[in-house]
Amino acid sequence: MNSKKLTLIKSVDVYTPESIGIKDVLFCGNQILTINENVELQSEQVNVNIVNGDGKVLIPGLIDPLVHITGGGGEGGFNTRTPEMQLTEATLAGVTTVIGALGTDDVSRTLEDLLAKAQGLEAEGLNVFCHTGSYQVPVQTVVGSIRKDIMLIPQIIGVGELAIADHRSSHPTVHEFVRVASDARVGGMLSGKKGTLFLHVGDDAQQLNLIFEACETSAIPASQFYATHINRNESLLNEGIKLANLGGYIDVTTSTTQQFIDEGEILASAAVKRVLDAGAPPTSITMSSDGNASLPQFSADGEFAGLEVGRVSSLYHSFVELTQEHGLELSMATQIVTGNPAEALGLKRKGHISVDHDADLVLLNKHDLSIDSVWSKGLQMVKNGEPLVKGLFEDLI
Ligand code: ZN
Repeated sequence: MNSKKLTLIKSVDVYTPESIGIKDVLFCGNQILTINENVELQSEQVNVNIVNGDGKVLIPGLIDPLVHITGGGGEGGFNTRTPEMQLTEATLAGVTTVIGALGTDDVSRTLEDLLAKAQGLEAEGLNVFCHTGSYQVPVQTVVGSIRKDIMLIPQIIGVGELAIADHRSSHPTVHEFVRVASDARVGGMLSGKKGTLFLHVGDDAQQLNLIFEACETSAIPASQFYATHINRNESLLNEGIKLANLGGYIDVTTSTTQQFIDEGEILASAAVKRVLDAGAPPTSITMSSDGNASLPQFSADGEFAGLEVGRVSSLYHSFVELTQEHGLELSMATQIVTGNPAEALGLKRKGHISVDHDADLVLLNKHDLSIDSVWSKGLQMVKNGEPLVKGLFEDLI
């Protein structure tokens, strides 16, 4: 383990996500010690790893707000359950923080398994948080209630992905829905967390009505709600922009297939551009990979025709598209995948490069934004685009 070594990145173009120009960045373990014009160390006296930042850009580690780290899917039968996420699927894509969640299946997938997997990935060097619950209402929990899970289990930061406007949803009433949001909020308040209600939105005609009704009929602020798959179709994206303008958070899914696009899904990067162009608050929009979810394919007559799997790396590729295909400033593109999810989820030490934040850092080659190096909690995970750290069983698979 080299996590306690001093590392000095020299003369690198830093995006915090804001652009602060060429700086030297010194960190030790998970602690960023200084970000300054010219940091000199007597390298004979201290063991310091010096990294040349010439021609490179330093951004915070990417945050992926939705990954099925224990696998997902199974909607075509037991042989379609998707595999667990492996460490380097995140780190090679510059992702240093993932939020794990269950989905449709909360019978053969459990919260206990989710927490065990989260702690396994943490031990391997990644930052992992989780949501309690699944698609369903009543919300399944670990220790008996939403409030207890959020207050007593350090990794659990909210509830999700709870399904609305979907044939697989429990179709909660507004009253039931408000109760869940309220429990998440109170659990969060009492434990210094955000207590977000993270919502899977399907393609039913109700769209975000449940959220809008909850905001109208209760004192729960819109900022408690965080709705994903908003790029599912044109009409849902417009509803998402309304939620963003009310103060809620919206998320677009970067894993996709040609069939989804042909059926009306909007590419994640294009959807982000649309939200920003519509004048929604730029802090309201994030992207997630929906990693390890199943992406089922159906034939023209509706028969199950095969399965693809969501990839965490799609988050990084969509981030690059934001700048290279949609002309976003690098600072704005970076904010979408770092500062914004940190704010939406209340991750106080994540999503920024500063002395108050963790040493989760990604070094990119400036000319094409390809990944050179990745540090998670100060531990170097990737060097020259190659993994330095792998999950224990990765080479066996
Ligand atoms: Zn979902």
